[in-house]
Order: sequence, then C-alpha cells, then structure tokens
Amino acid sequence: MPAHASRPDEGRATLYASTRGAWWDAPQPFSAILLEGLAPDGGLTVPLAYPELARDELAKLRPLAYPDLAAAILARFIGDIPRADLDALVRRTYTRERFASDEITPLSTLEPGLHLLHLSNGPTLAFKDVALSLLGHLFEYALGDAGRLNILGATSGDTGSSAEYAMLGRRGIIVFMLSPHGRMSAFQQAQMYSLDAPNIHNLAIDGPFDACQDIVKALAGDAAFKRRHALGAVNSINWARIAAQVVYYFKGYFAATAGDDETADFAVPSGNFGNVLAGHVARSMGLPIARLVVATNENDVLHEFFSTGRYRPRGADETHATSSPSMDISKASNFERYLFDMTGRDPQKLAALWATLARDGSFDVAGSPILSRVRDSGFVSGRSTHADRVETIRDVHRRHAVMIDPHTADGVHVAQAMRDPRTPMICLETALPAKFAATIREALGVEPPRPSRYAGLEGRPQHVTVLPADAARVAAYIAGHDRAA
Ligand SMILES: *Cc1c(COP(=O)(O)O)cnc(C)c1O
Repeated sequence: MPAHASRPDEGRATLYASTRGAWWDAPQPFSAILLEGLAPDGGLTVPLAYPELARDELAKLRPLAYPDLAAAILARFIGDIPRADLDALVRRTYTRERFASDEITPLSTLEPGLHLLHLSNGPTLAFKDVALSLLGHLFEYALGDAGRLNILGATSGDTGSSAEYAMLGRRGIIVFMLSPHGRMSAFQQAQMYSLDAPNIHNLAIDGPFDACQDIVKALAGDAAFKRRHALGAVNSINWARIAAQVVYYFKGYFAATAGDDETADFAVPSGNFGNVLAGHVARSMGLPIARLVVATNENDVLHEFFSTGRYRPRGADETHATSSPSMDISKASNFERYLFDMTGRDPQKLAALWATLARDGSFDVAGSPILSRVRDSGFVSGRSTHADRVETIRDVHRRHAVMIDPHTADGVHVAQAMRDPRTPMICLETALPAKFAATIREALGVEPPRPSRYAGLEGRPQHVTVLPADAARVAAYIAGHDRAA
C-alpha cells in the first residue's frame, strides 16, 4: 500500500460534491461524476478536499516521465479505477505518436527566466488535446464492453475538433458535434469535417455559435431524450479535464526549476477558466507556484475581478470577437469552482454571491474576506488588445526566432509586464500558430508552418451535414444515427 494511503485527506480527494451544496452528505466517486461535471443542483463537482503533497513527494515526482507523473497525480483524484488500469490508460493516451515528443508537454526557454510550456503538440494543435485525449480513454473504460454514450456538443472551433480526435474509434462512443455553418476558419472547418469515421458526425448549423449551443441545451435539457439516447458532454466543466491539466503544471514546474525549494510563476491565456483552475488545484496541493497570471483579451471580465474584486459578466451581445477567439468568453464556467474555494468552500456564501449577481448583474467582494483569500491564492491578472498580441508575436519572433499563436501571445504579453526577476515565468502555449494563420500573416507577413500531417488539409474531402437551426431536426438526426435506436 502506498505510504500516502493513510493520510486523512486521501479518501476525501477522490470523493466529489457540488459547489452549491448537493452531495456533501453522500459524496460521489470519480466514476459517477466522470461523464457530467454539472451536479443535480446546478453547481459544479469538486473534490471534498484537495490532495496534499507529502514533504518528500515532489522529489519522488520530479524524475518521472509524463505518463508516470500523470498516473501518480490522477490517482490522487480517482479512487475507483484500479491503479494498474489507470497506468494503462495514461500510457495509451500520452504517447510520442500522439503528442510528437516523449516529453508530451516540453518546456523551451525564450530567455533566462522566461519559458514556454508547449501544450499544443497533440492531434488538433491546441492544449485541449492534453485533457480530452485522456477523456476518450477514460470514457471508453468507464463504459465497458456493453456501454454506449452519445456525446453531443457545440463548438466555435478548438473544443469540437479536439473532442472528435479524442473520441475517434473509441468503442461505444458516438460524437454529434454542432458547429456554426461557414463561421469557423477554413483550417478549423477542414480539421473537423475531413474526419471520416463512423462514430463522428459533424452537423453544420445554419446560424451562429449561440444557436448551436441553444440546441445542445434544449436536447440535453430534455430528460427523456437524454436518457433514451444516453447523451453525455465533454464541455470545459468536466472535472476529469481539470484533473488531467493539473499534471502539466507539475511537469512545467520541474522543467523550469532545479530544486523543490524554488517557486515558479505561470501565465495562462484564459477563457472558460479551466486551464488556470488546474493551476490553482496544483498550487492548492502544495506545488510551489508563486503566482498564477490570468491573461485575458479584450473580454476582460476576469481581469476586472482580479484587479478590483468586482465580477460583472457581460451578455453575449457585449462579447467582442477578437483575434484570440478561444478566449472570447464573458461568463467563465469554471470560475464557480475557484470562487467556491475563495468563500472558504461554503456553498451558502457562494449561493449568496450568485443571488446578488442574478439581482444586480454583478457582485463586489472588495473589503470582504473573499478578496483577501483571492490575494492569498496567488492570482494576478492582465489583459491584451489585438495590437498587443500582434506586437508580441513580432517581438518574440524577432528576438527569439519563435512563432507563437495569438492566444499564447496574450499570455506572453501579460507575463512580460508581471515578471519577477527572482522567479521563473512559465507561459502556457495553448495553440500552434498554424491554427490562426490570418493573425500570423498580419504580424509577420508569412504563412505559419504546419505539421506535415496537416499538409493539404483544406483540400481533403469533407464529411458534414448542414441542418437548419432547429432542435427538432437535430434530434431526428441523432435518433437516426444512434446505434441503439
Ligand atoms: C480553450 C482555449 C483557451 C482558454 O482556455 P480555458 O481553459 O477556457 O480558460 C485559450 N487558448 C486556446 C488556444 C484555447 O483553445
């Protein structure tokens, strides 16, 4: 039995309850929350406590290869998958073939004290592959031989393709992915629509992304339909995605430091707050992270919160379309998990904040114990504009001969302003430039390179069904293509 098994927190980190109070008297094991993320009371699932690192544990984790590190960390959150099975799942997920290097998330150094942690070498060239690839294997494992799951999702770009590549060929799983017809980049469309697999269905909806999301909400909200077709989701509130992302904070910390008494800062381009939340979890476990730098673009709701204590999400009509589109989010769904911790993990205090938000459209924690916890949590923030991103892409290219994408540029721009000369700053690279060629052309006047497997992507045959923005038509399509129907 591993030495940590007797620590009092240990079982609690593998049991889950809701940020809004449900399940604290009947906590759920990992497998029960794996397919959802949303608790029945509308809250988000969180572990009863974060696992705590023993004093000598960093030294044991430091030399591990990525799959072993992943298994060691994930085992702290998963109590109901035997360790040998978990080991096998992560080994199948984190391969050189899938992530283009044995390091999986290699670190490079721009200049002394300023690093890039490369999270985008997976199948769809964005960091979401790190977590979603694992989810594909976890889902398949959880379903077993006879289980079936129909994943219904809506995407404006990165999540949909990452989910499709993660679920490609996974037994018992079918993906129905809705995307706004003609509104994604040619690369993003081709990346999804060129997939030719019996378990992947691309549905291009005649309407904007919001229409796609409304249809998903309507169908997932229809309990009878959901049950009949075993509908599931892979959205960014899925806890397993967060847990999988915790791993690369450890990996990055080990790569940028020489010993476990050092600290490191991380800069994180943020949208739905899932990536940086994983950093918060790692820090809460005891990883020596000094600061978590939240970088936003012009959609700066989170920057406003961290700099003033005021939280004022904007409506969809106030959300700017920017050159870092995966961060064009005004209501970050994972923020609830962080805020829950900042209330001292008190569902009633959280409910009071949400009630104020519903009544006034905002709340303000300035002067309250919540803000002092926020300050103690290591979070700081900054924002970038389109001009900042273009300038940062140019600057990094000129000085370091490295090409970064506009999202990563958000992070690097904010990180530069926040650097502490005594502490290494690790900027998370969240996508490769090939995905966002227009901004690269604007900044550098050249076409970004793309991995050879994507050569000629836009010319490949596309497999997509165009449907009107009508939930009934999408429901009929699903019913017609659900294998069990
Ligand atoms: C999803 C995404 C983000 C935002 O990550 P969150 O976890 O939603 O905060 C940033 N950059 C890229 C390229 C993304 O795909």
